Amino acid sequence: MTIMHPKHAPIMQFPIHDNCLYIGGISVVRLAQRVGQTPFYAYDRKLITERINLLRQYLPEEIQLHYAMKANPMPAVVQHLVGLVDGIDVASAGEMKIALDTGMPADRISFAGPGKNERELACAIAAGIVISMESEQELERIMLLAEQMGICPKVTVRVNPNFELKSSGMKMAGGAKQFGVDEERVPAMLTRIGQLGLDLEGFHIFCGSQNLKAEAIQEAHEKTLQLGLHLAQNSPVPIRTLNIGGGFGVPYFPGETPLNLAAVGGNLRRLLLKARAELAGTRLVIELGRYIVAEAGIYVCRVLDKKLSRGQVFLITDGGLHHHLAATGNFGQVIRKNYPVTIGNKAEIPETEIASVVGPLCTPLDLLADQIELPKAEIGDLVVVFQSGAYGLTASPTAFLNHPIAPEVLV
Ligand SMILES: *Cc1c(COP(=O)(O)O)cnc(C)c1O
Repeated sequence: MTIMHPKHAPIMQFPIHDNCLYIGGISVVRLAQRVGQTPFYAYDRKLITERINLLRQYLPEEIQLHYAMKANPMPAVVQHLVGLVDGIDVASAGEMKIALDTGMPADRISFAGPGKNERELACAIAAGIVISMESEQELERIMLLAEQMGICPKVTVRVNPNFELKSSGMKMAGGAKQFGVDEERVPAMLTRIGQLGLDLEGFHIFCGSQNLKAEAIQEAHEKTLQLGLHLAQNSPVPIRTLNIGGGFGVPYFPGETPLNLAAVGGNLRRLLLKARAELAGTRLVIELGRYIVAEAGIYVCRVLDKKLSRGQVFLITDGGLHHHLAATGNFGQVIRKNYPVTIGNKAEIPETEIASVVGPLCTPLDLLADQIELPKAEIGDLVVVFQSGAYGLTASPTAFLNHPIAPEVLV
């Protein structure tokens, strides 16, 4: 009996010539020379543009697309996206600075996060950025600061709904959460906003991340719209913006398949048609990070040593957990699974072998691939980790063991 092992969804966005993988029209071998070192991250600007075009094609045209910058805050990437999206979502003063530096108008930048400090709030108020308020106390702090500064702040209420995004890799709403204001407390907060005469921009409802199931996203969209419209009835001012979140996922692991974007877009079109009258004058926003950049990026490291230990092959590389925590299975995964990986300069050679790819760190957690079939590699070859454009370098403990940080290039 043969056991069928689930396979990775095919990676087709990077062409291969003479067994060498290309990104942005450059072979990885040449790119490694150009960068001047390994490891490094490379992001393909054309693929990012194409992904935005795909979203525009399938989502209703009245949907405004925001880039959630924490997925990949590399300034060149954010700058590239500024010409393509309708807004940027930031989650710290550092991200706010990068977003403002791109020239994106401040009223198209929104700032969320459960623990904003006084300095960050003051910067956001001064810049005219839309602050997504995550608690009643935050509302009072913003009012106090705004009074001192003599500036009318732009705010939305982030709502923690009483439902969750099913099948989500990371749930960020429903039940008890540190994010947003529980749905049932929002009417009282709206009364307070009315008393203060605060100019409320709208609502922000983000349920979760990394979802590959269209039906789950469709259900969340329906409930989110319903909730937004229901809360709008209690609002002291007409709602100008309704941010319905995002959470579109990409396939990382064997057996996972891409999200059916056509189904998600078609459903949203039907929902918007039904609620057209109630939504008149409301800017509808979807915020996406991972879906926009993840598949446009690779992480490249070099084989430093090849070791046979009790029958198992280990490719020991100069890259690892300190640059790419997620690929080692240590960024939110419950069970460790392999990211799609190849040997960039031997991509289609016929000789393959089962090997594990590890990093230089003195911990067994530093495992980039666990016993997968790879083109037969030697010392000096380039290991490429796919699906690495989101939650890569900045989601990794770069100071751990004090190896140099990996450069990032946009090609
Ligand atoms: C992280 C985050 C996002 C982006 O999530 P992705 O899964 O990368 O699309 C969007 N909105 C908020 C509020 C977030 O915290």
